[in-house]
Amino acid sequence: MTTTNLPEPLLRVKNLVKHFPIKGGLLGRELDRVHAVDGVSFELTAGETLGVVGESGCGKSTTGRCILRLIEPTSGEVWFEGRNVTALDKTELRALARDMQIIFQDPYASLNPRMTVGAIIGEALIIHKLTRTRAEFEARIVELLETVGLSADHMRRFPHEFSGGQRQRIGIARALAVSPKLIVCDEAVSALDVSIQAQVINLLEDLQAKFGLTYIFIAHDLSVVEHISTRIAVMYLGRIVELATANALYTRPLHPYTEALLSAVPIPDPEVKRKRIVLQGDVPSPIHPPTGCHFHTRCPIRQLPLCSTESPALEQAADGHWVACHLRR
Ligand code: SF4
Repeated sequence: MTTTNLPEPLLRVKNLVKHFPIKGGLLGRELDRVHAVDGVSFELTAGETLGVVGESGCGKSTTGRCILRLIEPTSGEVWFEGRNVTALDKTELRALARDMQIIFQDPYASLNPRMTVGAIIGEALIIHKLTRTRAEFEARIVELLETVGLSADHMRRFPHEFSGGQRQRIGIARALAVSPKLIVCDEAVSALDVSIQAQVINLLEDLQAKFGLTYIFIAHDLSVVEHISTRIAVMYLGRIVELATANALYTRPLHPYTEALLSAVPIPDPEVKRKRIVLQGDVPSPIHPPTGCHFHTRCPIRQLPLCSTESPALEQAADGHWVACHLRR
């Protein structure tokens, strides 16, 4: 898939697949497979934010982790600045970690409780030999703390002394330490209160403007990604079902699943009414996803047998607006 009218992409994900084997029995043989990511492709331009949304288990976090190779993809390719990330050896991958970082969902679990904040943020400075003297090391940590709205005296404290929002700021400072180009924000604000979410999103936007960062912003809620995203990819059972600019997706959604997700987003204007679309049933198991269009078991406009037998490809319905639906392209 090529994004028109945009410069050469920073990141290219081509047909990414991740299946997790389910093993059992005395011999530990493979009994089945979880189809977590099932052929995901997209491109990302430097400086943009791609929001990735979908219900839990749709493969959005696994996609983010496969891009960084925190999880090894089953197949497919990831290209970053012209380098094939999926073919890099361990040493090359370590070097690439300077360019691609991740911020995790749970700021409580992702910070080592036995390390001071200075040691947590400084770890990558040591690994990548980014400072030469103790004074330089400490000055850089103070600079990073101040960049994320914390202060120098926080350096010698431990994670448990901070609130959830502050801990997420520490996680952001840790990611920024190596001056990355791309940051995967993996449900980075999902565990925070709504008011704190807004503060952290504002901080991420300020940092993007200041350092020219590119984000993949993963969330399960469309209302969270609306303001930060340049484009949004909606995922369902391991596949992207719609990909468009944030504006097009919110004003002219094409996929019935996106319509259902959007109908659940509260509208601040009480004059504007939106009809709630309640999908029938639960998300099917990714071990045996439905045949054809994965969404056909819950789709309010499905046409059988077409939708249950043929898998719709992600195709461009309008300029830069991609959809995987037999009836909406
Ligand atoms: Fe619904 Fe069919 Fe479109 Fe899938 S392809 S979203 S089942 S109409």
